[in-house]
Amino acid sequence: MFVSDCLNINNEGHLTIGGVDTVEIAKEYGTPVIVYDENAIRKNCRSFVDSIDECYDGNGRVLYANKAFSCLEMCRIANDEKMGLDVVSGGEIYTALKAGFPAEKLYFHGNNKSYAELKYALENGIGRIIVDNPDELQTISEIAKESGITANIYMRIKPGIDAHTHDFIKTGQIDCKFGFALETGEAMECVRLALAAENVNLAGLHCHIGSQIFDIDPFVLAAEVMMNFIADIKKETGAVITELDLGGGFGIKYSEKDKPVSFGSYMKPVSAKIKEMAAEKDLPVPFVLIEPGRSIAGAEAVTLYTVGNVKKIPDVRTYVAIDGGMTDNPRYILYQAEYTALCANKADRPKDMQVTIAGKCCESGDLIQENTMIQTAQKGDILAVLSTGAYNYSMSSNYNRVPRPAVLMVKDGNVRTIIKRETYEDVIRNDL
Ligand SMILES: *Cc1c(COP(=O)(O)O)cnc(C)c1O
Repeated sequence: MFVSDCLNINNEGHLTIGGVDTVEIAKEYGTPVIVYDENAIRKNCRSFVDSIDECYDGNGRVLYANKAFSCLEMCRIANDEKMGLDVVSGGEIYTALKAGFPAEKLYFHGNNKSYAELKYALENGIGRIIVDNPDELQTISEIAKESGITANIYMRIKPGIDAHTHDFIKTGQIDCKFGFALETGEAMECVRLALAAENVNLAGLHCHIGSQIFDIDPFVLAAEVMMNFIADIKKETGAVITELDLGGGFGIKYSEKDKPVSFGSYMKPVSAKIKEMAAEKDLPVPFVLIEPGRSIAGAEAVTLYTVGNVKKIPDVRTYVAIDGGMTDNPRYILYQAEYTALCANKADRPKDMQVTIAGKCCESGDLIQENTMIQTAQKGDILAVLSTGAYNYSMSSNYNRVPRPAVLMVKDGNVRTIIKRETYEDVIRNDL
């Protein structure tokens, strides 16, 4: 019935998450507030981890793409679930280290890492750095040399598969700010540079073909392209690549239209393809990595708001205004992301009102969803927006000096705060 199994409706007709009444949560903790179900997150982690154990003899690692929702508690959960972390900035590395995350299980991505970030990463014993460009390769080599260490790197490859939409495209995609293109020879050129670079060990290759992907085929194809490149590298340079990072991008349910495959089912055909090609090309079966972000946390949270004014514009539309908006969820204003919304205190009633959900910011585009069906809403209702666990809080801002909401975690019927609500004092914290 809902976008995630962690949601339900109780006897009072209220929406629940992880068995806890969201209306009660709103009353106790205030709104806007983001609420996660920890057990559901852990279940997702396990389905990915188990799939590597079952289909790939445990010869791999799942990295949580921390950018989807980064905070100390998420790092602790990922660590507890025996995952590594995909990090993309000094701030994300700092967060992980502060959470006690082992540095050797951090994989550092990004298309423009600064000198300071690279130095910070290497000094703290980062596991792998995913190199984006030749300039970065040189900087890493220099820092590693000065520090007397060897930097383990991957190279980010553009495999020429663009799966950002429901249909994936097999060619092109040279026009992308991330990584090295295969078809222009740029990737092989940098492999040579990496093999020659001092204090650098080219341990593996990486690709990431898109996000919110519902098909397994593009992932299998990406694995094939990457294995072919590993074979080419061996042929041309003699070097044997032993680690293959296939990125993330597994789709989740935002609305009934979305039909995600079970997370565990992805590894089976991908493993088969990799093993088949390793045998065919006389290569070792590589240690494999996958990097789910959205699929770990996305569908396992809801944002709760309080409805303010309801503005009916005859023959145009009805705006339902909420006490948050683009400051806690900029995904609609950014790319018209789809969401399911409902009145949490009337969850058992039919959705009989077509509305546009408006945020409180001074920006006409500050909307959460346009012309969507919810229960007849009035001032004081609790509006729940579902599947707000990924790229919401992590993309939040203080626009209009709106304090960021609190983030809560529900587990076995108990609720705890994992990120405090910001205060006005927090908002001026860095002002001089
Ligand atoms: C964003 C990103 C991910 C995670 O993508 P999801 O769609 O959230 O699974 C994984 N790896 C890299 C390199 C990314 O940039």
